[in-house]
Amino acid sequence: MFDLKYHKDYFAGSRDELCAKIQQSVSTKRYQHILGVEQAAVQLAQENNVDVEKASIAGLVHDYAKERSTEEFKRVIKKKHLDPDLLKWNNFIWHGVVGAEIIADELKIDDEEILNAVRRHTVGSAVMTQLDKVVYVADFIEKGRVFPDVDFARTIAFNNLDQAVAFETKHTLQYLLAANKTIYPAAIETYNRWVVAVN
Ligand code: GDP
Ligand code: FE
Ligand code: FE
Repeated sequence: MFDLKYHKDYFAGSRDELCAKIQQSVSTKRYQHILGVEQAAVQLAQENNVDVEKASIAGLVHDYAKERSTEEFKRVIKKKHLDPDLLKWNNFIWHGVVGAEIIADELKIDDEEILNAVRRHTVGSAVMTQLDKVVYVADFIEKGRVFPDVDFARTIAFNNLDQAVAFETKHTLQYLLAANKTIYPAAIETYNRWVVAVN
């Protein structure tokens, strides 16, 4: 799994070179999480006929921008002319949606399928490709994750990817509601499409 030679259209270098860049951008703890997400994403990709190289790259880069400052994200939102409404949100939302722009610039990754999987990894989307689902679910079930339902989530993930998207979406929304957190509008769209429509 880990001697992948990436297609040059996805990343101009080896997996080791990509990993070295990622390690420079995040803490050791987050890097371990990232490796876990890559592993889960590759396994889910194999199960679901998704491009394994894209799953590996998207898994490795998904949290690349997670430790960037508020100022940097705001700068990127303005420079790239992203929806100004994003300025009202925070790192939880920015690291995927805005992080994709930082990944494109710094890692020279321009494959829109990979970038979209990063954009959608935190709250999902009404429209999700198989690669989007793989990364969204891998982030939830990677081997370092510890929460009461995680084994159940892993079982669903390897049985039915759409049901895993639904389970994760509902689980996250329940947590956000219980903790009186704001709900990013796209998270509701994900709920309406994947939780209500699937069950
Ligand atoms: P991580 O980057 O590997 O920690 O995982 P995620 O990217 O999935 O999630 C990052 C954080 O965003 C988690 O703490 C979620 O609870 C939080 N989050 C997810 N959806 C929403 C939302 O709609 N609103 C808010 N405020 N936070 C959210
Ligand atoms: Fe994340
Ligand atoms: Fe993550």
